[in-house]
Amino acid sequence: MAVTVKQSECVGCGACVNTCPFGAIEMKDDKAVITDACTSCGACVEACPVEAIQKDAVEKTVAMDKNDYKGVWVYIEQFDGKARNVSHELLGQGRILADAMGQELAGVIIGDNVADLAKDAFASGADKVYLVEGSEFKHYSTDGYTITMTDLINTYKPSVVLMGATNDGRDLGPRVAGRVGTGLTADCTNLGIDEATGYVAWTRPAFGGNIMATILCPDHRPQMGTVRPKVFKRPEQDFSRTGEIVRVASKVKAGDIRTKLIELIKVGTASCNLEEAEIIVSGGRGMGKPENFSLIEELANVLGGTVGSSRAAVDAGWIPALHQVGQTGKTVGPKVYFACGISGAIQHVAGMSSSDLVIAINKDPEAPIFKMADYGIVGDVMEVIPALVEEFKKIKA
Ligand code: FAD
Ligand code: SF4
Repeated sequence: MAVTVKQSECVGCGACVNTCPFGAIEMKDDKAVITDACTSCGACVEACPVEAIQKDAVEKTVAMDKNDYKGVWVYIEQFDGKARNVSHELLGQGRILADAMGQELAGVIIGDNVADLAKDAFASGADKVYLVEGSEFKHYSTDGYTITMTDLINTYKPSVVLMGATNDGRDLGPRVAGRVGTGLTADCTNLGIDEATGYVAWTRPAFGGNIMATILCPDHRPQMGTVRPKVFKRPEQDFSRTGEIVRVASKVKAGDIRTKLIELIKVGTASCNLEEAEIIVSGGRGMGKPENFSLIEELANVLGGTVGSSRAAVDAGWIPALHQVGQTGKTVGPKVYFACGISGAIQHVAGMSSSDLVIAINKDPEAPIFKMADYGIVGDVMEVIPALVEEFKKIKA
């Protein structure tokens, strides 16, 4: 699709300039000109009072035969030879999709000396594992993994590809989708099968979390998406299950990987592995000032938990963004979630609503967080948290 201005009809009123969300319209010699920043969104078309802007639809060409694409794939992301939890969560959900589609479930493992992960993948529900090993995959690289995943998809033609919405998954998924010529629904919070079409129904928050959009991929294959960690429960593993391992040779050539890993610096992941945490103690604006976050840390320490926060606390500079829970932060699913001085805005709740047990501490009895909390303590965080710490210390002693 292309957006163009019919120069002969443009009267130079400039009404379109500010309607472009990408600043892609400029006035030159009293005529509107579309610049390279145009994404063909078409937002400007209606703004022109003389209908000088047009968006040309290019006829859709679908070169692929959808019937050639079969099976559900889960990209098994690993770090240091260990599969990320989200990969198993997706294998559990992938199994449900594959059964509903009457197709097989396969895991894709790329790494160096990672064959052992296949057993775990079978135990979590995979029928098959595509395994690509080599020293070039010791650490994740955008180039190496993109080339490999693209090659696997073009060769074996899966119908569905699921990836975790992790840092690596968010990097890899869209690139691979672009290369194989399909779409990708990012950051999904639910998956199902659309009854009318049988396609995967990808659900994700849209418009600032105010609506949940369900997206289908009708014309292209594979149907691809990234899914947030902790959206689905990790399945019970059955180690009596076995499956087929398909070893695939690496096609990555010297020079293909344009980046070089110089040093791996761990930035407090041990204290901030929110996605995998079983207990999270989060603080919000109600903590009053940055120093008071030491109380949150104390409660987290005594419980062996991890520190989280609302965006308000991050925006105030009280705690690094790494700790933010919510729509634009991490999605978490701990056994116990403490919300301390957090109001319970929809965007925060979007990231923690799958917690098993929510305990809210807030001085306002009407705070929305109490509507979804299992236990609510109406009180001042500065009094309640120290009291909790004391009691938990006694239990531990
Ligand atoms: P507030 O809403 O100000 O609430 C503070 C609470 O503390 C109040 O309920 C108050 O009663 C209580 N309180 C005050 N003093 C005390 C005290 N002494 N003792 C006990 N309680 C006390 N927010 C997120 O958290 N995560 C996100 O990922 C996120 N993404 C967003 C994305 C978009 C597009 C937008 C528009 C917003 C997003 N937000 C997100 C912001 C969100 O809308 C809220 O503004 C934010 O969650 C509010 O943080 P809070 O609850 O800490 O602060
Ligand atoms: Fe030209 Fe239409 Fe833009 Fe006015 S709104 S400057 S007429 S293209």
